[in-house]
Amino acid sequence: MLNVEILGGVGEYGRNCFYLEKDGRAILLDCGVMNNREKTMPTLTPAHMAKLDAVFISHSHIDHVGALPLLEQWGYKGQLIMSEMTAKQLKRTYPNIKTFSPRSISHWLHINQHLSFQWGFSGHLIGSVWYSIRFLGEVIFFSGDYVLDSYLLKANLPYEDCGKYNVAFIDSGHVEKTIKNEEVLQQIVEFICTNDSRPIIFPSSFSGKTADIAIYLFAHSTRKVYMDHAFFPLFEDYYDAPENVVPTPILPLFRSECLQETTVEENAIYFVPERDEATISQLFKNSPSAIVIFTGYFNKACYTQPLAPHQVKQFFYKTHPDYKDIIALSKHINAEKTIYFHSHFTNEETTLLTLIGKEADIG
Ligand SMILES: [Zn+2]
Ligand SMILES: [Zn+2]
Repeated sequence: MLNVEILGGVGEYGRNCFYLEKDGRAILLDCGVMNNREKTMPTLTPAHMAKLDAVFISHSHIDHVGALPLLEQWGYKGQLIMSEMTAKQLKRTYPNIKTFSPRSISHWLHINQHLSFQWGFSGHLIGSVWYSIRFLGEVIFFSGDYVLDSYLLKANLPYEDCGKYNVAFIDSGHVEKTIKNEEVLQQIVEFICTNDSRPIIFPSSFSGKTADIAIYLFAHSTRKVYMDHAFFPLFEDYYDAPENVVPTPILPLFRSECLQETTVEENAIYFVPERDEATISQLFKNSPSAIVIFTGYFNKACYTQPLAPHQVKQFFYKTHPDYKDIIALSKHINAEKTIYFHSHFTNEETTLLTLIGKEADIG
């Protein structure tokens, strides 16, 4: 009997960490902290760690990897499994990281006689993946953070040769929304065109969303796109991992025009780290008519200096599955038991049926 313990990330947004144990052996799916000031840890203990055969890491965001130092502190020597790109993006390295190469996609990779896995692209961040895992006769699906309709990143569904899933962990990060990312990109372009004389500021994060919006605007607007230095490594990953990216002729041009030291033009579109309030204030000082466009849960309430209504516009671009994506993904995986994570709107009791029943409330 597979014993599933939620150590964080279900019924909350952050510290994703799921422990699966059978016959005295165990695996861990992600090992994250809460993205708050305290960096709240998952409820992981040395007793959990002692049984681990392997830790599967979906991507490099801290709500999925921020508690890895705990495992190291307790002397964990087993494998930390992740994509090559995820390993490259981590703020620090660990001696027991075991990466898989892009060429291994769709293959079964063996860790020991009890444990093997397949992986695929999850569309949320360059290098982010989902896993299908065979563990002591059980079959497990872990979506990681998942975006089905990224403009630039590939996302594929699991292959058909897994057999019946016993348990699935499915990202329900945007369960309260129904959004088409392509339409949002078109709406942003329209808004920018009708505000032609005003500089635009996008508070942005290290994510697939930032690249999607920047490249889309570069391709569909005549205005200069200016990327903060902090995002250069993110874009370099797109050139290093073409297999992860939907082919587009725009990328090389973007590199030569937007990822170089350039003089800033009036009326540009700026991508600035969302927590860098000082740079955003400076941009306003230089260009008082600027507009800040927020594209997710991070918004003006996160800043110490209030922004006036005429300085702000809100859109929402998915970085997780929305209601319809979650229903489609759940039906495709069709596991005996599904655990929805990454949302305040779902908990351990949530099933596909309760989600469908609540469509009127959250759809
Ligand atoms: Zn993430
Ligand atoms: Zn996450």
